[in-house]
Amino acid sequence: MEGLREAGRALAAESARYAALGWMRGTSGNLSVRLRDEPLRLAVTTSGLDKGELTEDDVVVVDADGVAVPDQPHPEKVPSAEARLHGRIAAVSGAAAVVHVHVMASVLAAERWPGGVELIDLEMLKGFGRAAHDDLVTIPVVPNGQDMRVLGDAFEKSFRADTPALIVARHGLYVWGADLLQARHRAECLEWLLRFKVESER
Ligand SMILES: [Zn+2]
Repeated sequence: MEGLREAGRALAAESARYAALGWMRGTSGNLSVRLRDEPLRLAVTTSGLDKGELTEDDVVVVDADGVAVPDQPHPEKVPSAEARLHGRIAAVSGAAAVVHVHVMASVLAAERWPGGVELIDLEMLKGFGRAAHDDLVTIPVVPNGQDMRVLGDAFEKSFRADTPALIVARHGLYVWGADLLQARHRAECLEWLLRFKVESER
């Protein structure tokens, strides 16, 4: 499939970065990038591998439901179970890249503010695509679960086009963007913001 090798290479490189930050411990977390619209096709990291050691082949092409499509070099590879939520996020938000990482600050923040985490008047909000002053940003929080359809419904209910992130309580963080680089910058800034929130509001 066109662009798959390049996507695999980019996903492996990005995963290694996040793993080095301690955001993809064990084999947790997964990243995806859009390969094609209509029908939607995403390249997503393969399930169960150490994210610090992926190669360009450790990638699976999935449809909007997160199911591996038959037309790919290794259709037997298993995508992450969370690929279904990646598909939902990509379809609803229009994002071309989705990052899912188990960031501790996001989980701690959701524990304190299960109705949503409010951020305001912080310079780093600019890195998240919002204003540094007088712009109240609420990061939605949804309960954790293993049914990706339920999680997807909860995501869609909480979705706002100007807030490209979702926290899954007691689990981790999803952030998305127009490409992997934008998604990464947003994820890095949001992690900083959430850490500030948790540590400053004791
Ligand atoms: Zn996860």
